[in-house]
Amino acid sequence: MNIALLGVTGSIGTQTLDVVRTCLPDASIKVLTGYGKLELLAEFVREFLPEVVWVPDATRASKLADMLAPHGTKSEILTGEDNLNACAALDGVDIVVNALVGKAGLAPTLTAIDAGKNIALANKESLVTAGGLIMSRAREKGVRVVPIDSEHSAILQCMTPTSFKDGFAGNPSVEKIILTASGGPFRTWAKEKIEKATAQDALRHPNWDMGAKITIDSATLMNKGLELIEAMWLFDEPLSNIEIVVHPQSIIHSMVQFVDGSVIAQLGLPDMRLPILYALAGPKRVANNFPRLDFLTAGALTFEAPDTARFPCLALAQHAAKVGGTLPAVMNTVNEWAVGQFLQDKIGFYDISALIAEAFGSYTVQDVAAIADIRNAEAWAIEFCNTRGST
Ligand code: NAD
Ligand code: MG
Repeated sequence: MNIALLGVTGSIGTQTLDVVRTCLPDASIKVLTGYGKLELLAEFVREFLPEVVWVPDATRASKLADMLAPHGTKSEILTGEDNLNACAALDGVDIVVNALVGKAGLAPTLTAIDAGKNIALANKESLVTAGGLIMSRAREKGVRVVPIDSEHSAILQCMTPTSFKDGFAGNPSVEKIILTASGGPFRTWAKEKIEKATAQDALRHPNWDMGAKITIDSATLMNKGLELIEAMWLFDEPLSNIEIVVHPQSIIHSMVQFVDGSVIAQLGLPDMRLPILYALAGPKRVANNFPRLDFLTAGALTFEAPDTARFPCLALAQHAAKVGGTLPAVMNTVNEWAVGQFLQDKIGFYDISALIAEAFGSYTVQDVAAIADIRNAEAWAIEFCNTRGST
């Protein structure tokens, strides 16, 4: 298996290399891409010797080349947005792991599909903004889009293994998907306290250690909203067939209820290496030495309803899921910008949802017929953010 790993320096990227190192001796890394953290990138290049390495610009390329020179590493270094797409389409690559964060992930996803590459997709933002285009192109090309998201991997594992072969869409035996949510660090906080929460508070996720953007999305519950839309596209299920349940222990990663009333759940410790391994090797089960779940010490598994009054981002995402068209793309762009502002302590926690609601109020939703429609929606949203950022 030849892998192109986009976003190797991030949380999913580094864990993907750990999975390759410890569980997949026959896998070979052909491409690595990073944005910052050049020291770490150089270390990975020296270990995995990819044919191609990508960094965004010439300055970083020359720094990276200097770091690699003493080691005689032969990897070609590419730069620029077009070449990030070229990385996703490189000859000889069988599977693209898209571990990029945010809207930067969409173009490489589409390019990989057009080049006939299977995709292990962590970048949920691609599916949120352009799920219809991605899934229909994937079907046309016979390409598999397999999720690297604990919930969606769980859903896939609850369905039959043949789903893998058939693109796992529109399973007629499924009655509903039960998408679990940890509830994030503010699950038990009163609204008045959440209102004053800082980025530092929000970055303390109780169960998962992830990149900064998704950690904030988990605190606002936007992450669950993005995952709702992700599940609709991946499994071809209507909004009404997906229920969100808060399960604070993050042991049940999601469940599927079938038409006969039977419910199948996938359980495990919160460890992203398992969904990564399943995306790369599934439906085969690969032995590993990851820590195991011990039921005798796990304690109680509890469930509660999500509270959209304290977490309005979830209600906004549910609205975007219902309306569809270009609205999820606008939501995603405004959210990404607002999360960036919150991380820099420039806006408050509830300003994230307030900005998205304001954008929804002044945007006219369009149908999505082509990628240009998504790009126009994103451009509108960036313009909207620019006006808010400068006031
Ligand atoms: P991260 O911030 O840790 O890593 C992101 C990677 O993308 C880094 O390698 C970074 O260098 C690169 N990158 C950032 N901006 C870029 C740009 N403009 N162009 C090219 N490269 C760029 O993020 P993460 O937590 O690993 O998350 C990656 C994706 O996986 C996100 O879509 C997230 O929602 C999803 N995901 C993450 C987890 C998790 O546990 N971390 C779980 C489920 C899903
Ligand atoms: Mg998830």
